[in-house]
Amino acid sequence: MNDQLITQDGWLLPVVSEDSVAFWEGTRAHKLLIQTCANCEAMRFPPRPMCPKCRSLDCKWVESCGTGTIWSFVIAHPPLLDAYAKVSPYNVIVVALDDDRLIRLVGNLVDSPGATLGSLSPGKVEIGARVKVSFDRLNDEFTLPRWTLI
Ligand SMILES: [Zn+2]
Repeated sequence: MNDQLITQDGWLLPVVSEDSVAFWEGTRAHKLLIQTCANCEAMRFPPRPMCPKCRSLDCKWVESCGTGTIWSFVIAHPPLLDAYAKVSPYNVIVVALDDDRLIRLVGNLVDSPGATLGSLSPGKVEIGARVKVSFDRLNDEFTLPRWTLI
């Protein structure tokens, strides 16, 4: 595996594209920024060059209110990469943001801000549960948005 995509501890790192740089700058500043069309105001995620509604190439970044609802989830069990196997079982959730329920982010629900994957009992994860974003610093370059129950 490419060493630039994995930490020394074995955690996978996000792949950053030209379109997603601002998103990751936002998370480093503990802001959940969502790419928004500068022409028609439609939010879009993941970041990409063109608005799917009006085809404008002009965009801006709008800070999300940071709350949403669990739209779907899975509980991960081994076989997994070693770092992930050590904290399994853990959840992977899809959050529909309150800003626009069609904006859905994949992440993890944790017991409290800064808590590790697997810190929340799998039985506490439910579709429809209300969540808010928190930020978990992975290294100098990446801070991951994670989620806690409201
Ligand atoms: Zn648009």
